[in-house]
Amino acid sequence: MSSYEAKCDRCSYKRKLYDILRSYDLGDGYKSAVTIRRQYAWCHQCQQTVSAELLEDLPSLEAELTQANGRGEEFYSGFAFGNTWEEEKIRYLDDLKQRISLRKARVAPPKCLDCGSPNIIGMPESDGDDDEGPIVQPIEHPGCGGTLTITSIGLALNRAWFFYTPEGDKIESQES
Ligand SMILES: [Zn+2]
Ligand SMILES: [Zn+2]
Repeated sequence: MSSYEAKCDRCSYKRKLYDILRSYDLGDGYKSAVTIRRQYAWCHQCQQTVSAELLEDLPSLEAELTQANGRGEEFYSGFAFGNTWEEEKIRYLDDLKQRISLRKARVAPPKCLDCGSPNIIGMPESDGDDDEGPIVQPIEHPGCGGTLTITSIGLALNRAWFFYTPEGDKIESQES
């Protein structure tokens, strides 16, 4: 799990960000929770750099499914811990199919995962896979005019796990 830092090159704005596990709760006791794909974004409501939902369009999800269908042992054995790669492939394809049906039913635009506001500016991932450089394409810091970038600052352990409705609203966790 990685941690990141958002920074402005003009003002003193800084914020640490963590990759936290977040899932859509499909209402069956988390048996088939679908992991939320995130993007970083500026949230006008939070006035912060935040994690926000990344809602891919259906054609690219369907292309992903076709690609996943065509893959075999070489791909799936890489993360089939305790499963055979065939079992892992089935699990992986089921997850994608569930993601596609969620996406088809989805009405609301992508939301800030902190406050739930759809009033966000997404920060697309940068193309380079250079670990040192910014991980997003920089955007203008709203209200400041400086440039906001996000860079990786290393690993962090965070065992938090948050659940959201299929429309991207945070479910307040019941005490466990
Ligand atoms: Zn600034
Ligand atoms: Zn927000």
